[in-house]
Amino acid sequence: MELLHETLGEVTACSAITASAPVGPSQRQYANAALLLQSRLNPRSLLNVLQDTEAMLGRVRRGQRWQARTLDLDIVLWSGGIFAAPELIIPHPLYRERSFVLGPAAQIAPLWRDPLTGLTIRQTAARLSRWKRKA
Ligand code: ATP
Ligand code: CA
Ligand code: CA
Repeated sequence: MELLHETLGEVTACSAITASAPVGPSQRQYANAALLLQSRLNPRSLLNVLQDTEAMLGRVRRGQRWQARTLDLDIVLWSGGIFAAPELIIPHPLYRERSFVLGPAAQIAPLWRDPLTGLTIRQTAARLSRWKRKA
């Protein structure tokens, strides 16, 4: 978070860090957190810098998705609403089903509205926990 603050712009809020079980084939637990970043970069440039940062902090991409990694920096939402390009989709297509994203995100931006569903992060998190209780 400190590094992103130095390279990308002002980090205006940080969640607590929480542990979660992995998605997919990876065997280890992960530490999850969300931050709110104020940056002048467009989404594509931001993704490039995030991927450079992952590499700098030791992430090696081996082609397979959801492999074990040292760091994963995703863009969940941004102030410009919907963004869709071959290499980048915002809102992040899976964040609504992930409590390890919604929990931290709800701590720092509970009232941020999803441009596709119209729901706030807090409402999306509540909806997910209702689904999980029923399952
Ligand atoms: P998931 O998308 O399920 O969270 P992942 O983060 O493990 O998977 P990666 O291997 O880190 O997947 O990234 C795969 C590709 O996803 C990236 O190279 C990037 O081009 C693309 N991508 C699409 N939308 C986003 C987004 N909102 N944030 C970050 N990467 C994205
Ligand atoms: Ca991810
Ligand atoms: Ca990623």
